[in-house]
Amino acid sequence: MPDKLEKQDPLLSDEEIIAIAIALYQGVYTPKNLPLSIYELTIKRLQQAVFDGFGNNAIKLPATSEEYKMLSDLLDSIKIFSGAKTFCFTLTMEGLLVENGNIISQELFITKTKEAFKIFYENWLNAEYETAITQAESAADQVKFLKQKHIFPLLEYVAVEDEKLCGLCGPLDGMIRRVDDPIWITCSPARHIRCRCKRVQRGYWVNETIIPANLPEVSPFLKSASWKTRQVFPKNHPYFTDIPEKYLPFAKRNFNLPL
Ligand SMILES: [Zn+2]
Repeated sequence: MPDKLEKQDPLLSDEEIIAIAIALYQGVYTPKNLPLSIYELTIKRLQQAVFDGFGNNAIKLPATSEEYKMLSDLLDSIKIFSGAKTFCFTLTMEGLLVENGNIISQELFITKTKEAFKIFYENWLNAEYETAITQAESAADQVKFLKQKHIFPLLEYVAVEDEKLCGLCGPLDGMIRRVDDPIWITCSPARHIRCRCKRVQRGYWVNETIIPANLPEVSPFLKSASWKTRQVFPKNHPYFTDIPEKYLPFAKRNFNLPL
């Protein structure tokens, strides 16, 4: 995994964002009729992150392999996540249409759409991209670790440079435990958004270390390892938990978006 991630291309051009804004303003897109293009582009972007994290040869895996099954589950979870993200964005925009009981001007709405788009599809999407790389890498690693545990029975948590000072990862840096220790269910990277830590195989020549006490709480959706949930962003991510109740049956049908 590269240490410095390249800046991602914008998901949409300015003209395309304006077109989306106008369609939202005119009620073409609503929380019940989501913009398919944004959904599909989000899937493409985040599935690329999964491939990046999983390794270059992921595409050539035999369909019966453990790796392939893990990869497929992670890729599927990206679709569900992208649907929820598209919904949250569209619902946010619907909420911005009205101010003090009046519908705002189209011009102002376009400005607000650009601002919200920047938050959802630049700031947050980039963070999600980086996190998805680590989540996928962690899951791919786990499959390998289990296969090779007779040779490498131990794993060490390794925090990359700047993360040694991270309150969530720093205390785990250097922790060595057996491959099948349940601690890894709750203490595998990613421990936070943009986490770039990893676990490294160790042989019989090292000893287990103690589990650090009083580890700080991580975000609920990163509490269980990606290899355990088999999801990049599980269902307790805010995009899912923030869905208003009246939309839940619709959410169950993936917001009528194709899977
Ligand atoms: Zn970390």
